[in-house]
Amino acid sequence: MKSFRKELVFTTKNRVEFINITSQVNEALAESGIKEGLCLVNAMHITASVFINDHESGLWNDYQNWLEKLAPHEPVSQYLHNRTGEDNGDAHLKRQIMGREVTVAVTGGQLDFGPWEQIFYGEFDGRRRKRVLIKIIGES
Ligand code: ZN
Repeated sequence: MKSFRKELVFTTKNRVEFINITSQVNEALAESGIKEGLCLVNAMHITASVFINDHESGLWNDYQNWLEKLAPHEPVSQYLHNRTGEDNGDAHLKRQIMGREVTVAVTGGQLDFGPWEQIFYGEFDGRRRKRVLIKIIGES
């Protein structure tokens, strides 16, 4: 069995941001040379997510509005977590809802997606350097 590991790095301009990382994951898969196996993609930070959904800008605004209703950033004093001196209590909750990772089957050297599926990085406490891990295992 072959195994391949790669990290992606993001420093978003905004506190909350969604980035389609499908092409970077495809590049990693090509680099790996793996044709049959599994591809794991996970956020390496507890205030960011990796998830699969549609590449549609209305939806990105919908996530942002929905998440802000569930866990508003302000007032930051509403979160016990922020008693540590941080202001990202909401970002931890948003990450929990949007998930830590995705696993995609690799078939014939391609990510074996369903219709419209794309991989996204969801940032909830950005404007600093954060990493995403790609791990691919299988046979070439
Ligand atoms: Zn925190």
